[in-house]
Amino acid sequence: MKRRTAIKQIGFGLSAGLALPWLSSCKEDGPGPEIKYDGVVGIIGAGAAGLLAADILISKGVKVKIFEASNRLGGRVCSLRRSDVSTESLIVFPAALPYSDFPLELGADRVIGSDSRWKEIIELMKVPLVDFRASSEDAFFIDGNVFSEADALFDNDFLNAKNFREGFASFSGGANTTVLQAAQGAGVVARMNGIINSWLGNTYGSSANRIGANALAEALAQVTHDGKEFTSSTNPLQDVLLSRYVRAVSSVQYNTKVQSVNYGGEKVEITHSGGTDTVDKVIVTVPVSILKAGDISFSPALPTSKTGAMSRIGMDASMRVILEFKRNFYGEATAAILGGVQGPDYLNNAIGRSELNRTLSITINGEKAEQLSGLTGDQVVLQLLSEMDAVFDGKATENIRRDTADNSLVYTIKDWTKDPLIKGGVSYPLPGGANSDRTDLGAPVGDKLFFAGEATDDTGEFGTVSGALKSGERAAMEVVEAILAP
Ligand SMILES: Cc1cc2nc3c(=O)[nH]c(=O)nc-3n(C[C@H](O)[C@H](O)[C@H](O)COP(=O)(O)OP(=O)(O)OC[C@H]3O[C@@H](n4cnc5c(N)ncnc54)[C@H](O)[C@@H]3O)c2cc1C
Repeated sequence: MKRRTAIKQIGFGLSAGLALPWLSSCKEDGPGPEIKYDGVVGIIGAGAAGLLAADILISKGVKVKIFEASNRLGGRVCSLRRSDVSTESLIVFPAALPYSDFPLELGADRVIGSDSRWKEIIELMKVPLVDFRASSEDAFFIDGNVFSEADALFDNDFLNAKNFREGFASFSGGANTTVLQAAQGAGVVARMNGIINSWLGNTYGSSANRIGANALAEALAQVTHDGKEFTSSTNPLQDVLLSRYVRAVSSVQYNTKVQSVNYGGEKVEITHSGGTDTVDKVIVTVPVSILKAGDISFSPALPTSKTGAMSRIGMDASMRVILEFKRNFYGEATAAILGGVQGPDYLNNAIGRSELNRTLSITINGEKAEQLSGLTGDQVVLQLLSEMDAVFDGKATENIRRDTADNSLVYTIKDWTKDPLIKGGVSYPLPGGANSDRTDLGAPVGDKLFFAGEATDDTGEFGTVSGALKSGERAAMEVVEAILAP
């Protein structure tokens, strides 16, 4: 029996008679702990993966300690709060506060898949979601103009690009082929490069000329959800995560940056900015960029299967820019404008959420984010405005919100690359990589060291909250299996 199948069965077996662990935290599981275990499981990182892993273990009666380097929960699920304006040094804020009357997200903002794990959890919390594409459609930058999808479909080159994207999950080519090369090989012409980059580069954490085509296709072929996208109509997503995993919250040690993990002895020694803790097992959930940078040292050193896998998984620069306008000039029913060079993905953030439909939330990953990261906030915004001005007759600059006091530009930027605890956006497969790299990255080392986090998802949902949640569940079940092993 395959190892993961076995773990799944053990997981479901343990939960027999109960709701599944990730569905059970709103009520007590029963009079006593499900597992008798005196040990403590350390969890490094309090993002989606760490919180769910902790919640499952707590629900089974296992004690956990969560070590979180920052002063907040949620990791890359990060909602903008007005109070952050004065305290958060990693976000570029203007003098004026954001005026949008709906939550703004600096990290994950789309709930992907109407049947995905993240959507399931949000629904359980009775948080209303908006299916923003139900009454809207994407628009595309093509040859210096912007076209609705319906109009773009009259263009054969666009149709070819769309067909390539839709059939991409079955792509297989030379080991080092990038997504862009795969598109060119399939006859997609260069004038569609920006669109391919939005669909299959930026969406998956980098640029189409950097992502390995085989591994991405292999991963996408695993996806089981329907790919529909939603936004939360009223609630910040960070709050959803925290409310759902509230019982993990009291186990978190904030401002506790783990520096080393020694798992060679009978116990695991975790050295961090606040001293040393001894635990029995540990789940590492930090971003793969943190592992690759060697910010946490392991003793004994990690096996080569893991370091090799890491060398084939990248994590590139990533930036979220939120622009507010005095009026909507890009179409109240435009879901997202794709194919831009400066901004590969301008999401119309207000659809179904507010009458004030004038906010664009721009996600920039990979090569372009790397370039923009070296500029000032004003310079970044001017580049985005000039890209939009070219297709909307100067209306972006004309309508961008400015501070009434000094006429300065009003915007919000979170440059994830500069966040020392994240160091980029999301993991992506490098050329030469394979989906099995994620399996290797996530595999336990012995019975004490376990791994979770979006980069370890091998079910095609890496780079998403659902992928992170699924990895947290898998790692928690592996820990349970190790605890129960004779
Ligand atoms: C700009 C952007 C847009 C995105 N958009 C979407 C989207 O629309 N939909 C979607 O589903 N997903 C999206 N994602 C991806 C999603 O946010 C992540 O996949 C998911 O949140 C990752 O969760 P995680 O638990 O694996 O890692 P994280 O959330 O990164 O959690 C890891 C935690 O580890 C902590 N940490 C780091 N180093 C240490 C250390 N040494 N010691 C202790 N703690 C440490 C960090 O502070 C962090 O809290 C987006 C991400 C970004 C950056």
